[in-house]
Amino acid sequence: MSIGIVGTGISGLHLALRLQQLGIHATLYTDRRPDEIRSGPPLNFVTRFDSTREREKALGLTTWASSAYDNSWMHMYIEGPGGLSLRGRLPKPASSVDFRIYLAALLEEYQRRGGIPVHRKIADREQLAELAGQHDLLVVAAGRGALMDTFPRDPARSPYLQAPRHLVGGLFHGVRAPEPSGMTMHMVPGIGEVHAPTYHSFEGRVTVVLVEAVPDGPFTAVTGRDYRDEPDQFAEDILDLITTHVPSLRPRVEVGEFALTRPVDMLQGAVVPMVRRGWARLDDGTCALAIGDAWITNDPLTAQGANLGSALAFQLADALTAHTGPYDEWFCRTASERMWATARPVVDWTNMFIGAPPPQMGTLLGAAAADQRVADRFIANLDHPAVMWDSISSPEHTDVFIAGARSGRSGT
Ligand SMILES: Cc1cc2nc3c(=O)[nH]c(=O)nc-3n(C[C@H](O)[C@H](O)[C@H](O)COP(=O)(O)OP(=O)(O)OC[C@H]3O[C@@H](n4cnc5c(N)ncnc54)[C@H](O)[C@@H]3O)c2cc1C
Repeated sequence: MSIGIVGTGISGLHLALRLQQLGIHATLYTDRRPDEIRSGPPLNFVTRFDSTREREKALGLTTWASSAYDNSWMHMYIEGPGGLSLRGRLPKPASSVDFRIYLAALLEEYQRRGGIPVHRKIADREQLAELAGQHDLLVVAAGRGALMDTFPRDPARSPYLQAPRHLVGGLFHGVRAPEPSGMTMHMVPGIGEVHAPTYHSFEGRVTVVLVEAVPDGPFTAVTGRDYRDEPDQFAEDILDLITTHVPSLRPRVEVGEFALTRPVDMLQGAVVPMVRRGWARLDDGTCALAIGDAWITNDPLTAQGANLGSALAFQLADALTAHTGPYDEWFCRTASERMWATARPVVDWTNMFIGAPPPQMGTLLGAAAADQRVADRFIANLDHPAVMWDSISSPEHTDVFIAGARSGRSGT
């Protein structure tokens, strides 16, 4: 069996490393060498939850097992009148490591284990078909690039036509870790969110400040400005935004030290949440399968995309191993529908969080602010999307979840 994989993000690399481990021949196509990944700007600020860390252990990746990269606590704040705060502890810590460091190291590890990546940018559908002809199956894990147009948008699963948030963020010195140390998310109703997790990057332990702006709201003053040549202005504007809109974050900022770690450590953009059809028939009649962001893009609000990409990679590796027939359209359709069962709760939960909050969200956050048992159970579900979605999908489900957490019953 020969599998072609396009893309060396977490989805492509976890799949490649898993197949390598299972003794299945795979060729990894990538447009970026490890040094190019390391020297570029950040494309995200990823926190990996315990399930992903367990898959890393299964792959024998020990570099990030150290507790030095752990984030055990999640603090949430709703700013403004009637606001609240809560914090919950993850049963097993998450890890927040700069993906430029992480992915470059994974690609090098793949090579160290005997993999030979092909350095080539696959330009279009025609070139995909050419590659597909060389393999039993081609898996597209190329993220949000041009190749995702190969997989048409699925309107029934994609309620958004435009990005519900505009993003800008960077890595900063001069922000103290929250107490207890971990991740923080500050919600400013109607305006957006500011995330400020502690993060391990090239300069050691720093803080991400990621602004998610509701379009046309006041945060777009920073998301809409091009700061590429103005790192100092960027820090100044972020500090103003925090001072004006995010009082719960302001005490962590040391004004004299607050600065972008390096001019390159900044990102700007927007994500249109979208589910695409998970497979495509190529011009030569073969079928390609999409995983990760090439298939499903989620807003980063719930910190799920990379964790989902890793889960799908493992699920697909299992499906490839178990299958005995050809990797044809039937295989692609079936595998994709099975993976949808894993992805769907992530999509539903994230789309609900990014929209107008339903009443049960207020009930849940209020209950979590008042009772540590509810807060801990709610935060634990960040690593269990199906359980999270079940607990928030209706007011009745939320009531059952809260009652269960208060009584110490297991599950939701
Ligand atoms: C600001 C921000 C914060 C986030 N925070 C979190 C978080 O905390 N937790 C979480 O789980 N997720 C988070 N996400 C989402 C997460 O970053 C993505 O879901 C995840 O990284 C997608 O991984 P992937 O491997 O599918 O795609 P990508 O990471 O996009 O990788 C695609 C790869 O394909 C290569 N490629 C692209 N086109 C071609 C081509 N034509 N030919 C050859 N190679 C190609 C690219 O170079 C790249 O290596 C965040 C996203 C953003 C924007």
